[in-house]
Amino acid sequence: MTVTYAEKLSRMPGYKAGVPTGQAPEAIAAGRIAQLASNESPSPPHPKVVEAIARAASSMNRYPDPDATLLRRRLADRYDSQPGNIAVGNGSCDLLLAAASALCEPGDEILYAWPSFSMYPYLPALTGAREVRVPLAEGDFLDLDAMAAETTAATQLLIVCNPNNPTATHHPVGEIADFLEQVPSHTTVILDEAYIEFQTNDDPDASLDLTADFPNLVVLRTFSKCYGLAGLRVGYAIGSSNFRAAVDAVRQPFSVNALAQAAGAEAILHQDDVLTRVESTVAERLKIQEGVGGLGLALSESQANFSWIDLGDLDEKAILEGLSAKDIAVRAGAPLGDPGHIRVSYGTPHEDDRFLAALAPLLG
Ligand SMILES: *Cc1c(COP(=O)(O)O)cnc(C)c1O
Repeated sequence: MTVTYAEKLSRMPGYKAGVPTGQAPEAIAAGRIAQLASNESPSPPHPKVVEAIARAASSMNRYPDPDATLLRRRLADRYDSQPGNIAVGNGSCDLLLAAASALCEPGDEILYAWPSFSMYPYLPALTGAREVRVPLAEGDFLDLDAMAAETTAATQLLIVCNPNNPTATHHPVGEIADFLEQVPSHTTVILDEAYIEFQTNDDPDASLDLTADFPNLVVLRTFSKCYGLAGLRVGYAIGSSNFRAAVDAVRQPFSVNALAQAAGAEAILHQDDVLTRVESTVAERLKIQEGVGGLGLALSESQANFSWIDLGDLDEKAILEGLSAKDIAVRAGAPLGDPGHIRVSYGTPHEDDRFLAALAPLLG
């Protein structure tokens, strides 16, 4: 007899990290490799956040607060919400997985656009729910009407990634509201707003007001991107108290570690720093969009901290290798669902200059 694993293992998508080399973290830290593959912030966390983490470090003999009381209260204060309506997770990915496990069983459906965030296919794979992928519309925007039309009595979970990863496109809050009107009230809608701070169409808090009108709506956000805390793993969901209770029930009590709780609780206080980070991101966005467009390549309309570049007739693998030879890591389009593309995250001004200078000679 040999060991056998669960059948769902064969369904798992098999995540591939952005930087494949073992020595990469040192090379990134030393500034040799421009790590433009994972949509991280090129800026370290706010100094007060680093201090809060250091202070919390001396109590590591204790388990974290299972209720993340301070973090949830600070988030509630910041967003004019109630702590009871806020769930926190070990990164927002933890909340996505918990939502699927709390909502979905075999026979149910999970619906999302495609290409979209590479984590979503884990949700049907793990739960045995049926995956429904809705192709993007013109310009790499979500086809919100088609998504609403695809919902059925079996749709337990519908995920809207706005701005969408990997295409960087954003739908203003009015379009999201119209969409929610069309979605049946038994379907939980997760509005994944990992990049919402970077968009300039709307007040980034406007979508949270929708939770008052749509009890089936959950707004998902993270400290991983704009706040520069990807390494700590902390995200949050604002929705109903029922949603919060459900995702808490299916996870271990200590899912958010004490350093992450301390960091998030401090980071949310520094909204001035968020604005500074957004400003520098928007400057890099203009530079990359104009620079790449000037080389004759088409890009989607980015409202995020990365661009989605259409390589046309160029060979995706050759472009990736050419950039890699210049120590620049970007994400390949093929594994993200659309071959012939690359996704480039905005780095420091110097890294983005390096990217543009390395790309130009590869276009032949
Ligand atoms: C990066 C990202 C997240 C964040 O994941 P964390 O687990 O919070 O680090 C969530 N959704 C999307 C679409 C992302 O790109």
